[in-house]
Amino acid sequence: MPLNTGIKCIDEFLNNMQSLLKNILGIGIFSVITFISFTNRSELTKAVPVEESAYPIHKYDSIFYFNPHYLTSSFDFPVGKPDAENYYLASRFGNRNHLGEDWNGKGGGNTDLGDPVYVSGNGVVTLTEDICCGWGNVVRVVHKLEGHSEFDYLETVYAHLDKIYVHEGQLLLKGDQVGTIGTAHGAYTAHLHFEMRDFIDMSMGPGYSSDWEGYLDPSAFIRNNRQF
Ligand SMILES: [Zn+2]
Repeated sequence: MPLNTGIKCIDEFLNNMQSLLKNILGIGIFSVITFISFTNRSELTKAVPVEESAYPIHKYDSIFYFNPHYLTSSFDFPVGKPDAENYYLASRFGNRNHLGEDWNGKGGGNTDLGDPVYVSGNGVVTLTEDICCGWGNVVRVVHKLEGHSEFDYLETVYAHLDKIYVHEGQLLLKGDQVGTIGTAHGAYTAHLHFEMRDFIDMSMGPGYSSDWEGYLDPSAFIRNNRQF
């Protein structure tokens, strides 16, 4: 009937309005909560902005920031420290596209097998590994240079080692022993293959290449940077 229908309609209308109000109220409360948590979050972010943080971001920067004693301001030769006494260069950097240099004891042959190998400057050990294909035991060290006019970071590589005496992450002072001269498991007469790189953390590389980018002449660099 019309009247009943009318009442029904009003009832339905009121019910609908009620649930609409509930929904609006619900959304309102949800919005307020979201707004508060968002506001809090942005306030937290604001409290410690990354750019104003006292802590550097690069992984090596952090290591040397917290261990400034291990920044380096000088380099020495890796054998017969500090001046390579009783050793000679059997193969220089660039010789037949050699990307490093080979150090031999003056006694010749395997007389230098087991002789100490020293880290060339202060730094952090980034790799100690027995690598295949002619490399043998390898130690890699990253150096952060203090006050050098050209380089911020350098890396040195010590290869064909008989023994390794350091571990990855270890901080070293110039002249600390990293291992001993070896033969890369009998692949060669004992000698140290030594590289100096101005691109750090490259792959091990081929040892020989016509592309010298990322590599320095180790002896030339050391002679010019005994102290800087
Ligand atoms: Zn070599």
